[in-house]
Amino acid sequence: MALPKRKHSAQRGRKRRTHWKVKTTSLIACPQCKQLKLPHKACLVCGYYDGRQVVEIKIKEKKKKTH
Ligand SMILES: [Zn+2]
Repeated sequence: MALPKRKHSAQRGRKRRTHWKVKTTSLIACPQCKQLKLPHKACLVCGYYDGRQVVEIKIKEKKKKTH
């Protein structure tokens, strides 16, 4: 197996990694409820995708005092 002849300096590795950047997550407005949602995913607010309800959204229950 081929091996590198010399050690890469820390600067060289860091210079290469300056192009590693985190992309911002893209969000689009839901056509049903106008809330921001992830593209190509069912809306988390209304559960709609492609003009129809595909996910049932459970209404948040009141916090139970069990502790
Ligand atoms: Zn929605």
